[in-house]
Amino acid sequence: MAAAAVVPAALAGWLLWQALGADGGDGGDGRGAAAPSVSAPVSPSGEPSPEGEKSPAEPSGKPSSGTESSRKPASGPLAGKTVVVDPGHNPGNRNHTAEINRQVDVGTHRKECDTTGTSTDDGYAEAEFTLDVAHRLRDLLEERGATVTLTQDGDRPFGPCVDERARIGNEAKADAVVSVHADGSTAAGHRGFHVILPAAVHGGGADTRPIVADSRRLGERIAGKLVQRTGSAPSNYIGGGTGLDVRDDLGGLNLSTVPKVFVECGNMRDAQDAALLKDAGWRQKAALGMADGITLHLRG
Ligand SMILES: [Zn+2]
Repeated sequence: MAAAAVVPAALAGWLLWQALGADGGDGGDGRGAAAPSVSAPVSPSGEPSPEGEKSPAEPSGKPSSGTESSRKPASGPLAGKTVVVDPGHNPGNRNHTAEINRQVDVGTHRKECDTTGTSTDDGYAEAEFTLDVAHRLRDLLEERGATVTLTQDGDRPFGPCVDERARIGNEAKADAVVSVHADGSTAAGHRGFHVILPAAVHGGGADTRPIVADSRRLGERIAGKLVQRTGSAPSNYIGGGTGLDVRDDLGGLNLSTVPKVFVECGNMRDAQDAALLKDAGWRQKAALGMADGITLHLRG
């Protein structure tokens, strides 16, 4: 994405898409032309999916209240708004294989509780990245007056499972939920961010139909602001240049009853993307992009 010769062309396509899709308001099934693929990115480590949304089928008895900050600004553009930030995976998952491999009910099917996530080739873990970006995003949103809850804050040995991650957003009656991730495609040259939107799913305990349209608007705004803040182009391997993907297999989306998207900030297995993802300045820009997109969505 850093290649100067590549970015302008990609941005041109991006801006064209923005112009065409800005008021698309796809209230239908969420599978517009901007979503050519619902397949999971290939995981370098052979995981089922770097996103591995999984959640416990039976009530675990564990708290679902998340980790709410005590800082509560009384003013700002997001005053009165509740945002849940979900740092994908957990650094401790690798040490709790049995627990995170437990199958949980995600409404339409059963999946693992959680996954370890991916990492850069030199060992910067996705779970470490997601927690760092989540902290930055939380701080920005709180500065703007929002009440922010994290689904985990390095305060658990593993997880939470994906069903609990969804439940935390639901029980908070969040105005928006953003799950922070980075991808792990090993194919050469795969770069760029993408935002995953919930497909219209109805089955078992899952019914995303009421949140599909609002989630798409949220995702479109985050994608647009990510481009503005980071200067990075949307994914060159998912979403056909739109930076948007639609999936029906992620428990964290399927079980959500509030508007929710996943943000895959880049591809950790690509050297150029990895350099960005490891850079604190870039992570701050990415957090700003997400905060701007959320703010535009909730207040725009
Ligand atoms: Zn992930």
